[in-house]
This record gives sequence, C-alpha cells and structure tokens, in this order.
Amino acid sequence: TGPFSPESLDKLRASLGARPRQLFIGGEFVSAQSGKTFDVVDPASGETFASAASGEAADIDAAVNAARAAFPQWAATPPAARADMLLKLADLIEREGERIALTETLDNGMPFMMAKFAGVMGAAGQLRYNAGWATKIAGETLTPSAPGEWHAFTLREPVGVVGAIVPWNFPFVMAVSKIAPALAAGCTVVLKPAEQTPLTAVILAELLQEAGFPAGVVNVVTGYGETAGAALAAHPGVDKISFTGSTQVGKSIVRASTGNLKRVSLELGGKSPVVIFEDADLEKAIPAAAAGIFGNSGQVCAAGSRLFVHEKIADRVIEGIADRARSLKVGPGLAAGTEMGPLVSNEQLERVMGYIESGAGEGAEIAAGGKRIDGEGYFVQPTVLTGTAAGMKVVDEEIFGPVLCAMRFGDDDIERIASQANAGEYGLSSAIWTRDISNALRLAKRLQAGTVRINGGAGVDPAMPLGGYKQSGWGRENGRAGVEAYTELKAVTVAL
Ligand code: NAD
Repeated sequence: TGPFSPESLDKLRASLGARPRQLFIGGEFVSAQSGKTFDVVDPASGETFASAASGEAADIDAAVNAARAAFPQWAATPPAARADMLLKLADLIEREGERIALTETLDNGMPFMMAKFAGVMGAAGQLRYNAGWATKIAGETLTPSAPGEWHAFTLREPVGVVGAIVPWNFPFVMAVSKIAPALAAGCTVVLKPAEQTPLTAVILAELLQEAGFPAGVVNVVTGYGETAGAALAAHPGVDKISFTGSTQVGKSIVRASTGNLKRVSLELGGKSPVVIFEDADLEKAIPAAAAGIFGNSGQVCAAGSRLFVHEKIADRVIEGIADRARSLKVGPGLAAGTEMGPLVSNEQLERVMGYIESGAGEGAEIAAGGKRIDGEGYFVQPTVLTGTAAGMKVVDEEIFGPVLCAMRFGDDDIERIASQANAGEYGLSSAIWTRDISNALRLAKRLQAGTVRINGGAGVDPAMPLGGYKQSGWGRENGRAGVEAYTELKAVTVAL
C-alpha cells in the first residue's frame, strides 16, 4: 500500500468497475448517443478495470452547442465571480485529492505521489493562479499616430468556445491547465481527454458541477482521437482549439481547423537537450539529469532526452546517471516506494522497445537498462545509451520513454554546442549546468527552446510561460501569455 487508505482504493475500484463513466454535456451526465463505450486498462497489470462512454461527432456537436449556449452568460459573469468559482474548484480538487490521485495512477500508471503532487496540487495551483487573472485581464490606453485628438484603447474579449484536447501523460493537470485560463478569460469549454486516460476528467466534471459552474460552461466528451477529437477540431462552432499532444496530430489539428480558421494553440513534442559543462555542480546535475529523463517513465514533453556532457567529466556523469537508472525502484504506481511506474500502454511499450532496438542496431551501446521487465504490466528498464549521435533515430526522434542518449563534447565552444543542441525539429525545453554564469547566459540566448533551465528548475509553474520553438508548438501556456491566448484583442478609437 502507499500513503493512501486501502479502503478508499477498494471503494474506488468497485465504483469504477460498476458502470461506464459518462459524458458531461450541458450540466448532465449522459451516455454516448451511439451507446458505445471503451475499456480502460491499468498499465501496471494490463487488466481492464473501468470503461468510459465513447463520444463521437454527434456527442461533440451536442457539447459544442451546450458550450455556445452557455457562452454569453459566462462571458458576462463578473470576473470576481468567475475567480471565486475557480478558487472553489481548487478547494474541491484538494478535498478529493486522494480519489483523483488514485484514479490517475490506476489509469496512467504514474507513482501515486507524483499523481498527488504534479496532478492534484499542480491542478489546484493552476486554478488559483488563473483565478487571479480573471480580475486582471485588461487592455491598454494607446496614442494613435494619426493627427487629431483621440481616445484609443484595446479590449481583451474572450475568444468564445474552446475545444481542449489533452494527452495521457499528465491527464488531470493538463485538462485543468487548459480549463483554468479559458474560464478565467470568460470562455466556455469542450474537453476531450485522451482515450488511454479518460477517468480523472470525469471527476473534474463532477467537481465543476459541485463548484457551481453553470450548465454548459465546461463539457467533457471522452472518446477516441480520430472520432471525438477530430470532430472537435473541425467543428464550425468552436472558436479555438487548445491542443497538447504529438506533433503529428498537432498538424492534423491545424488542417482540421481551416474550415472556420479557428484559433489554434499547440503544445507538442520535444527532444530536449541537457548541457553539462566541466565546471558544473555534479552533485546536483547528475540526479537532476536522471530525474529529467526517468520521471513519469520519460513520458514528459519536456524530458531531457539528449545529454551533452564535457568529455572531461563525461564518464563520471554517465556512470552516475546509469547508476541511478539501475537503482531506481520500478513498479506499480500504487506500490510503496515506487519511483518509476509502467509506460501507459502496450502500444507505448512496443514503441519504446522499438527505439531501443533501433539504437542498438545503429551502434549505440547500452550503459544501463535496455530491456522490458518481464511479468504483467508495461514496464521497461530506465535506459542510458552511449555512442549516440545526430542522424540516429534515437537521437532525432521523440521516444517518450525512459531512454537517455548521452553525447560528449570536447571544448566549450558555445556556438558548436548550441548548434548540436538545436539540431532537429523540436524546441521545447533545455537545461544548462555550469558555474560560469556568462557561459550559461550566452548558451541560453542561442538555444531554440521555449524553456531554458540553468542549474536546476522546478517542474511546470503556472506563472512561467511554457511552449515550443519550431515544431514543438504554437503559442504559450501559463503566465500572462497563457491566459491572453484565450482572448481576442480589439482596438477601439474615438475621434474627439
Ligand atoms: P497524441 O497526439 O496521440 O494524442 C493527444 C490527444 O489528441 C488525445 O486526446 C488524442 O485522443 C487526440 N487525438 C488523436 N488523434 C486526433 C485527431 N486526428 N484529431 C484530434 N484529436 C486527436 O499524443 P499522446 O500520445 O497522447 O501524447 C504524447 C505526445 O504529447 C508527445 O509527443 C508529447 O511530447 C506531447 N506532449 C506535449 C506537451 C507540451 O506541453 N508541449 C505536454 C505533454 C505531452
């Protein structure tokens, strides 16, 4: 058992097994119009333990209509009242923290404590941060350049109905990270969680109802990407899609959005570099690099998956990370002491194993891990590959698993390091370890990445913008930019 009550887990399992989770449309829990459901699998055992309604185009249509109907009243709700409801929802999420975290672990596989901190506390933090913005979203007073006397200003208005499509790697906090700024800005939402992990979105729906959000302000449609997700991306009644997921699906969202040229924000894949200079504080850098690739089994968009380390310290750093890989406690997310859980699905396991084999085939050496863990569930060993270089699939492509590619550099030529770190199609995150602040900042300016962490950094912070250069995305979530992404900017001029 973990730091939760076994009775809560038994109760939860019984309730999840008893009946399929439903869609939440216009304030009501309903079955899919087709009556279809899909199975939900526990990645730690491979067993089906729940099911959820399989929403399709007709259900998306109903949800979009409900969100459209709710929009005028929600947009006109005083910002302070919107803020109060977001704060209330944060409190309810904390009250239900154990149930949410247990459900997230059963559904996604992540360690229970990660579900609690990154998921539950992260979601509450997002809501409290964005509640603050509800009353502070504002335009500016401007001075036009045309001759004459003017009063000119900008207004920030809610963009309208938002389709939020989220992935399976941090299902609950991802969903809340989209809903919180959208609601703060005065938008209404249709949320489509990933088919691998639909369950915590349904708890979110219950809590939205309890917090007093009017019917239709947030609607939840569980279902597959190709059906429910695609219908939402193409729907003419949706004004904006906020999508987090793979770059490949992100491109299909862009194509689907062209019918009404809806606004599109994209948080996509990454292959983030970690650069460790000779003078780095290795006591900190080694465990941080290990946590940055093995955390959540490497299923993290910003995972530090390409290590660039100075050759003078390379053996020590690589051996240090490999040691950590060998000693990590891998197991079910609900088992006490688990540090790394399973991959989310059999499909993901096969994908990751395929990459490890391709790396070995292209000449990489396995310094640690490299194997599937026998037995039930979708477990893979934390893996460190050496002898890797750009041009190999394991280095160029996002693996989305606990696989680190380690590379060495010979001198501190910042331009050369930057060009290696910037290789490839992604530009989401990056990390730099050095005691030389000038070197750190010179490299930080050259990196094509939405985030640069120098000598460590906390996880995702609702106050810090998050997003990608290049094919890692469009726009930013979090911070002022994150909430403004749910607004339209209107210029108003008055000739006096
Ligand atoms: P995915 O792209 O397969 O799926 C994401 C979501 O899109 C799911 O809800 C899915 O049902 C839906 N979807 C799939 N096909 C669709 C379609 N044709 N139209 C509309 N929706 C569709 O991604 P995934 O495998 O769930 O997640 C992993 C990916 O997400 C990785 O590439 C990872 O880097 C990325 N990610 C990015 C961030 C970020 O902030 N940049 C965060 C987490 C994950």
